[in-house]
Amino acid sequence: MATLVITIDGPAASGKSTLAKLLAQKLGAYFLDTGAMYRAVTLAAMKKAIPLADSAAISKMMDNTDFEFSVENGHAKAMVDGVDISEKIRDPQITENVHFVASAPLLRSRLVEMQRKFAAAHQRIVTEGRDQGTVAFPNADVKFFLTADSAERARRRQTELDAKGAAQQIETTAQAMAKRDSSDQNRTVGALVPAIDAIMIDSTGLSIEQVLETMLGHIGPR
Ligand code: C5P
Repeated sequence: MATLVITIDGPAASGKSTLAKLLAQKLGAYFLDTGAMYRAVTLAAMKKAIPLADSAAISKMMDNTDFEFSVENGHAKAMVDGVDISEKIRDPQITENVHFVASAPLLRSRLVEMQRKFAAAHQRIVTEGRDQGTVAFPNADVKFFLTADSAERARRRQTELDAKGAAQQIETTAQAMAKRDSSDQNRTVGALVPAIDAIMIDSTGLSIEQVLETMLGHIGPR
C-alpha cells in the first residue's frame, strides 16, 4: 500500500497533469493520469461500436479488453489490447464523448477500483483527475484542487491544440471546455468538487514553477 498519496483534482486545462508529473518526479512517486483511463475506455467502446450510453455493455467490454496504464519517460502511456493509444485518446472526438463513461456510476466504480490497485502497488503516488481526493483516495496525505480562470485555461488548451496542428478556433475550444466542466461538476457520482480538506490553488497568472513551489511547500519534507 502506498505510504504517500497526493491527489490533484480540478477542471480541464488547470495544469493538473503537468504539475502531477513534476511532483511525481520530485518525490520519486508514481504518476497516475486518471483522465487517460476514462478516455481509453471511451476510445475502446467507440472502436468496438458499443453505444456510449450503454454502460452495462461497456462494462462487459472492459472484462474482455486488456487495458494497460503505465508511465514511460515521465509521461502517461495507455495501451488497449496491446496497441499504444496514448496520442489517440487526446483527439477532440474522444474529449467530446468522454462524458458518457465519466457519468456512468458503474464504470466510475470500476475505474476507481483500478486506481486504488495502482496505489496499492506503489510506495508513493501522485494521482490527478476530478474525484481523486473526494472518492478514490479520501484519506490521501495531501490533496490539491487546482483552478485557473476559464479564459486562461482555454488559452492553454488552444496552445496545446495549435502545437498538434489542430485547426480549431479558440472560441470552439472555450465552449467545449465549458461544456465538459459543467458535465463534470453536475454529474451525480464523482462530481468535480474540491474535497473539504483540499488545498485550493488558483494558478491564473502563475508559472508552472511557482505552482510547483507552492505545492512542495504544502507537502513539506517527505
Ligand atoms: O483530465 P482529462 O481531461 O484527460 O479527463 C478527461 C475526462 O475524464 C474529464 O472531462 C472527466 O469527464 C473524466 N474524468 C473523470 N474523473 C477523473 C478523471 C477524468 O470523470 N478522475
